[in-house]
Parts: sequence; C-alpha cells; structure tokens
Amino acid sequence: PRLVDDEEGGILFFSTPTSSSSSSRFGYSSIDKQRQGLPVYKYRNGILYLVENHATTIIVGETGSGKTTQIPQYLNEAGWAEGGRVIACTQPRRLAVQAVASRVAEEMGVKLGEEVGYIIRFEDLTKPGVTKIKFLTDGVLLREMMDDPLLTNYSVIMVDEAHERSLATDILLGLLKKIQRRRPDLRLIISSATIEARTMSSFFDTSGRMHKKAGDEIEPKKEPAILSVEGRGFNVQIHYLEEPASDYLQAAVSTVLLIHDQEPIGDILVFLTGQDDIDSAVQLLTEEAQNLKKNSSGLVVLPLYSGLSRGDQDLIFAPTPRGKRKVIVSTNIAETSLTLEGIVYVVDSGFSKQRFYNPISDIENLVVAPISKASARQRAGRAGRVRSGKCYRLYTEEYFVKEMPAEGIPEMQRSNLVSCVIQLKALGIDNILGFDWPASPPPEAMVRALEVLYSLGILDEDAKLTSPIGFQVAEIPLDPMISKMIMSGSLLGCSEEVITVAAILSVQSIWVAVRGVQKEMDEAKLRFAAAEGDHVTFLNVYKGFLQSGKSSQWCYKNFINYHAMKKVLEIREQLKRIAHRLGIALKSCEGDTQVLRKAVTAGFFANACRLEAFSQAGMYKTIRSSQEVYIHPSSVLFRVNPKWVIFHSIVSTDRQYMRNVIAIDPSWLTEAAPQFYQQQGLNKVAY
Ligand code: ADP
Ligand code: MG
Repeated sequence: PRLVDDEEGGILFFSTPTSSSSSSRFGYSSIDKQRQGLPVYKYRNGILYLVENHATTIIVGETGSGKTTQIPQYLNEAGWAEGGRVIACTQPRRLAVQAVASRVAEEMGVKLGEEVGYIIRFEDLTKPGVTKIKFLTDGVLLREMMDDPLLTNYSVIMVDEAHERSLATDILLGLLKKIQRRRPDLRLIISSATIEARTMSSFFDTSGRMHKKAGDEIEPKKEPAILSVEGRGFNVQIHYLEEPASDYLQAAVSTVLLIHDQEPIGDILVFLTGQDDIDSAVQLLTEEAQNLKKNSSGLVVLPLYSGLSRGDQDLIFAPTPRGKRKVIVSTNIAETSLTLEGIVYVVDSGFSKQRFYNPISDIENLVVAPISKASARQRAGRAGRVRSGKCYRLYTEEYFVKEMPAEGIPEMQRSNLVSCVIQLKALGIDNILGFDWPASPPPEAMVRALEVLYSLGILDEDAKLTSPIGFQVAEIPLDPMISKMIMSGSLLGCSEEVITVAAILSVQSIWVAVRGVQKEMDEAKLRFAAAEGDHVTFLNVYKGFLQSGKSSQWCYKNFINYHAMKKVLEIREQLKRIAHRLGIALKSCEGDTQVLRKAVTAGFFANACRLEAFSQAGMYKTIRSSQEVYIHPSSVLFRVNPKWVIFHSIVSTDRQYMRNVIAIDPSWLTEAAPQFYQQQGLNKVAY
C-alpha cells in the first residue's frame, strides 16, 4: 500500500492496489534492486551450496539482513519447491508470519495465498499444489506433524528466530532432529539474530553417532554448517537515565516528546510490553501531540502488537509521509521479528511481557519483567538500520552493567508444560523426560503437567493418551483445559455455549480500553454483567452482538472491540468445524448457566480458589497450593467476591490477579476431578 498524504494535513488516505499483478509490474526492477542490496544477497550461492550439502545449516545474521524474506525465495529459485514440494519458514509470532508472507508475495509479484501463503492458528491462506513457500507459526507446524509425522510435503524447513527459544520452537527443534534421521532428503535451516549458533550446532550434530553406509554420497553431511551473514548496521549512540525511572510508561512518553522536540527528523520505535501499556502510551502521545502547537501535525503515533487488524498492520509498514515523524509503540515483536524501515531513534523501556511458571504453586504468570542484555542490544540495533541513530534506555548504565541478566531463559524452562506434553504424547513420544531437548525442562514442571493431564482424564495411568477423550483433546488446537471444557460441554448439553466461550477466551480482550472514561466503560459492562461471572457475561455480549446484526456501531456504543468480535465469529466457525469432525453435536443449554459452569469446572478445576473469610478484603487462596490471589478489576466479579471461584489465567502486577473468573459450587470440583483433590491415585501415574 502506498501512503497518500492529504493536503489538509492530519488525515491519511491509503490506496491499496486492487490487483497485485498490476502493482508488481510497476516498479518490479526497483524491488529486484532492493533485494540485491541486502547483506544476505552476497551469500546467496554459499547458502544454497550449504543447504544442498548439509542436513542442517545454521545462519546467523543481523535483523534486517534479509534472512526471512530472501532465503525462502533463493530456495524456491534453486528448485527446492519443484515437484509439488514446499519450502516452510516458521516464526514464533503470528503477526510476523502474516507480515513476512505478504512482503514476500509482494516481492515475487504474486497474490498472497497462491505461490506464497501462510498458516496461523484459525487462518489458512495456502493452496495445496500451488503454494511453494509457506510461512507458519512453529506451533502450527507442530500440529501438522499429527497428520503427517515426517512432514513429507516439505523439502526444506527453515526454523526462523531460533534465538527467541520459544516453547514451540524448542519442541519443534527436538522433533525435527528425530525426523531428520528418517528423512535424509529433508533440509533444515536454523536462523537466528544472535550467536547461539554453537549450542544449536552441537545439538544437531549427529555425525559421530551415525553409521556410514556404502554408497553414502547422496546423503548430506551430518554435521551442521554455520554461516554468519555480515550486517552493516550503523553506529548507535546509547543514552542512559541518570536516575532510575519510577514509571517507565511516563518516561517513555516524555522521551518521545523530547526527541520530537530536539532531534532531526527520523522515526521513533518505542519498546513497551503489551497491549495495555501500548494503548495508554499511544493515547497519551496522541493527546500530547495535539497540545503541542508546534509540530503538532508532525507526529504519527501507531501501536504494534499481535492481534492488530490488517489495516493497522499496513500502517506500520507504510512509508512515513514527508515532513512527518512516525512513532511506533511496540511489544518486543519489533526486536528481531519484523524489520521496520526508517527508524532512527529507539526508546527501550527495559521490560517485556514474559511467561513465568512456578511448578510449586502451579501458577503460570504473564509478568512484566526485565529484559536481558542480549535483548537490549537487539533493541538498540534497530536504530541503526538506515543511518547512525540513537537509543534511549529508560534505565541506568549501572543497572545495565551490573544487574541485567546476560541472556534470557528459554521459554521451555519457564512454562507450564501441559500443552507440550499432550502434543508429544499425540505424536507417540512416550518417554518425555528422556526426550532430546535443546534445553531440558525442569522435571517438577513435567511432573505437574502429567498430574494435571491425568486428572483431566487425558492421560491414563500409564501416561498414555486416553481414548477417545485424550486423542480428541489433542486434536483441538487450543489449550488442553479449554479443549476439555468443550468435550465436557458436549456431554453436559451446552456445546454451543462452550464453543462461544472458548472462542472469546482465544482473543485478547473483547472490551475496548479507553483512558479517562472509566465510569462509562463500567456502566457499559454492567449491561452484560452476570452474577455467575465473566464466562456467562461473555455469552451475553455475544448474544447482544448477534442481535445487533453484528453491528460495529453497537460495539462502539458498548465499549466492545469490534475487531475482536469479528475474530470471535471466525474462530467460532473453525471450532464448529472441529467439533463436527470430532462428532460433537451442537446443542444449547438454553440459559442454564449451571451446566455451563460445570463444563468450565471440568476443564479448569486446577484453578479453583476459595475466598479467605477472615483476612484482607477480596483475598483468595488457590486450593491446590494456597497461593494468594485476587480478582482482577476487569472482571465482573471484582468486589462481588463469591466464596468459590475458578479463574482462566493469572496476571501479576503488584499482586496476582485472576482474569476471567466464574463462581462455582465446591462440590463440582470433586465431581470433576476426584483424584486431583484427594491427591490419591497420583502416585500411580507412570512418569
Ligand atoms: P531478517 O529476517 O534478516 O531480519 P528480513 O528478511 O525480514 O530480514 O528483511 C529484509 C529487508 O526487507 C528489510 O531490511 C527491509 O528492507 C525489507 N522488508 C522486510 N519486510 C518489509 C515490509 N513489510 N515492508 C517493507 N520492507 C520490508
Ligand atoms: Mg527475520
């Protein structure tokens, strides 16, 4: 899309080419020139040679050097997609999958979804037999293994962003190593923005253990090749705070305004942590920019996080209009996954949202936590792509040097492993503790996951998937607890409702958060609020949305996120299809909320809590591990405080808050999971 600036100022219009073939013809050679100017281009033949001759090739190169967008195209040009084979490139993040796929389609002058396509959960934009280059999340590729364990459609699989060490990436790497033994024709490329190449290399080095057969010439070399792409980042000047900031959000906003006031033109990239603080910062900056008399029209503030609509994504990549300054306020997705052109200034809050799991308390948290030095360096690097830039770190130099950890911890070692275990089980991997991981997960976390899955009736006493529940749950591309809720809902006669709830729980939030109108927002929420809790409230919202004729006006009036609701409809359709495949008939409980709550309990009994009558107001303790938790202010049960509740997830700020809460009767717990609450029978589980 090309950006057209409105003469009046302020309003931006976008012209989107109607047909991609006409737009690609126009300016084709300039795209070629741009491609040839990327650092990775010099290594094109070298990369192709290594991939031809090595089972695994590890490629390290700075963000923006062309790894993601170019290497799949080189492979395609060299014939790796001939004869119906497909080149895959995985990403840890959905938004990155969409963005790079559409960029590569544009570069190749093809329509997205034809030769170049993508798959993310609940969205498949590929055409079997036509698609040659396929971008997908690592999680989706893991799922594909359930139908095709050797991934026979693929000639080359590029596991991109390996330095992120996401949970799914690590599982994938472990499994790909196994597949390689059975498929000598398969080639792996592992690409990464930082030098973790050695660990990866020794992980994939099977040369010592393999027997050499006669006539082995056609087999690729077993030891991985390592190639380092030399970048050409410009110098980045680092600024630190002299005193620690008490409020990183406020500090980020002031720093942006300072840069805008004092520094020459050039775009600003701000790293915050998630949708909530990003939306707040965008709102504050937009207001401030309007207050500034001077330069007021010069600031274009845009958010960047997963779950953005297509239109908002396009704004991020559109060129900055002449005379304006773009400010992109992002999660760490812009750290290495996406290349943004024109960034000269980086503001680094020093934080990101990270998953932390504590196997003792059995609580998984999404926490705003300090980043590592490696991340801080990546973030700074984003300022030096087009010319020398500046990075403003919202922490002190002393903190950076003395306290910031050198590297992050792989997600595998700080996650709840329930999903991971069930996926491996579904792939027939029984000895999970003995599995060859790039980084071993903590055994306690593994034991916890096995316990929960056993109590859910998904694993039997020999730790094998149960039939049919276990296999069915494994097939639903959702958290096993949600899948179990759906299965139970079908038995209890509320499959319609649980599918709606599952769809709503799959989007970030259906509410719109606007600063300064808290009262109006609360009132809107009250119109839907159900005494039974958030899940029932969601059903009311969904009903209202349908009755309004799926109207965006209606959403706007009720502080409901229209894009989120449209997504809910899409996901719900997908879940209906899956339910149909599993033989689940759709049936409504016609407003019997007890049945629905029992279904939720059947999936989420492990998250049960009791109100502590004699302690601090609103304090709950988890039944499982006596952890102190509170109902999140966004819940309709905030201040209502029923005696027994079940939560969907926990977020931590000053306290541990339960998000999406439902009131239950404690007798349902023992009904749903007698073993779990009696602790008996657990010893019998075979680990
Ligand atoms: P890497 O994977 O090595 O970080 P990429 O392949 O993502 O690098 O990007 C290579 C180059 O392609 C970028 O430097 C940028 O010039 C261009 N590019 C990538 N994505 C886009 C996009 N969505 N819009 C415009 N240019 C892009
Ligand atoms: Mg990349």
